[in-house]
Amino acid sequence: MALMITEECINCDVCEPECPNQAISMGPEFYVIDPAKCTECVGHFDEPQCVQVCPVECIPVNPEMVEDKQSLLQKFQRLQEAGG
Ligand code: SF4
Ligand code: SF4
Repeated sequence: MALMITEECINCDVCEPECPNQAISMGPEFYVIDPAKCTECVGHFDEPQCVQVCPVECIPVNPEMVEDKQSLLQKFQRLQEAGG
């Protein structure tokens, strides 16, 4: 699953540097997650790093991007290849 940021985001900036996939960026009004880059931190960490640091808990699973762990691992591997 990719995660998403809701409008409750207070633009505190702490999640963006924590993302190992550079999936988080500032959107028109609040931060957004690129679902093509978010692996739910699979391949890097045991827990989603953005969720760990977000002070207002506004980062749920994106209901339109439900993926199993295998898909997330494949996405991680694609991103590694593209980045390397
Ligand atoms: Fe980035 Fe991980 Fe958050 Fe996805 S779950 S946006 S990969 S920090
Ligand atoms: Fe928004 Fe949470 Fe990220 Fe802060 S940590 S910018 S509140 S999503």
